[in-house]
Amino acid sequence: MDGIREELLTITHTADEYNKYLNAVVPPVFLNSLHLYDSFEEYLEAASDPCQEEKFVYGRDQNPTVHILEKKIAELEHGARAIVFASGMGAAAAAIMTTCNAGSHIVCMRDVYQPVKRFLNYFCVPKFGMTVTYVSGNDLDEVEMAMKKPNTTLMILESPATFVFRVVDLKAIAKLAHQYEVKTYIDNTCMTPLFQKPLDLGIDICMHTMSKYIGGHSDILGGVLVSKDEKLVCDMITTVREWYASVMGPMEAWLAIRGLRTLSVRVEEHQRTGMAVAKWLEKNEKVKKVYYTGLDSHPQADLIKRQQKGHTSLMSLELDATPEETIKFINRLHLFGKGCSWGGFESLAIMPLYKAEQEELDFLKAPRGLIRLYCGLEGSENLIEDLERAFAGM
Ligand SMILES: *Cc1c(COP(=O)(O)O)cnc(C)c1O
Repeated sequence: MDGIREELLTITHTADEYNKYLNAVVPPVFLNSLHLYDSFEEYLEAASDPCQEEKFVYGRDQNPTVHILEKKIAELEHGARAIVFASGMGAAAAAIMTTCNAGSHIVCMRDVYQPVKRFLNYFCVPKFGMTVTYVSGNDLDEVEMAMKKPNTTLMILESPATFVFRVVDLKAIAKLAHQYEVKTYIDNTCMTPLFQKPLDLGIDICMHTMSKYIGGHSDILGGVLVSKDEKLVCDMITTVREWYASVMGPMEAWLAIRGLRTLSVRVEEHQRTGMAVAKWLEKNEKVKKVYYTGLDSHPQADLIKRQQKGHTSLMSLELDATPEETIKFINRLHLFGKGCSWGGFESLAIMPLYKAEQEELDFLKAPRGLIRLYCGLEGSENLIEDLERAFAGM
């Protein structure tokens, strides 16, 4: 694949260190909760700072298999250090808890991952007196107005965001945020570390849920935060991961490393399939609109070309039909399972806005019947045939 030469070497070889593990080509799963030292003094030294690299004390702080995964992802995202969590939400909550205090003000994009908004609205606000201003992210004056409050500590971003695949200018927002000493956080899951490098654009914290493309086989939960600011990552290791105890287990880390090995080939295939399906849908007269970052018809195609190297296989579409007819349509799909996640081998179709508030629909300018389509690895011909059959029944 073009432009990811370095990444291919990271995926295949970084931090494997054969000579450390009896020349085994695959590093072992360290299924241990503690590490022993010859003397009490050595133990004390190792335990003095959980952020020290290669000093392992207790599994809730750090585990060697988990750390191999961290080194690979830090390098892939051009970060100084990465920290892995038991889930994407564990990582998101850790980033918020580390960068905010009681009473902090957060600026958040309207269409970020819904559970993050719920965590803010139903936990951070009532329990810690935080305040949140929701913005579109596309109007820089609006973002600046929101950031101006003296207690603003964090801006939460997702680009592309997964309902209507809106993107925001990450470089411009990062620059603005630094002027106001606001930390920026992005959920980069949809782009994978191969297609977008937010830290190079000035974003402070980059998050991925590894439950999606990185794991890639719908068999693990996991999350990661990466930053060029090593101190920030170390703060998260002690304050949030150790005390909230949201570290990833070694078996999951091992599976995530295995998932990473084939990330480039899977993502390339997902992109090929996504592009073919999106273009086919766009030509179909029963389809009103297709939302996919790979289409020239995307209203932000120029920004997308500047910011992203690729497009993966997640998209949305609007049918010329009522929400009820749309439910019947997705139920006629055989290869697209009805389920909420994505990033695995299996294709999925749901209507994520079916129960949304009218206000949300108005903001997104999207209908209740919006279909989110995730193209797995069944191949574009099989998926298009499945879609064709479902359209024929309309
Ligand atoms: C699934 C998802 C998450 C949450 O990740 P978990 O590992 O399920 O906690 C966060 N952001 C996006 C964009 C997701 O799709």
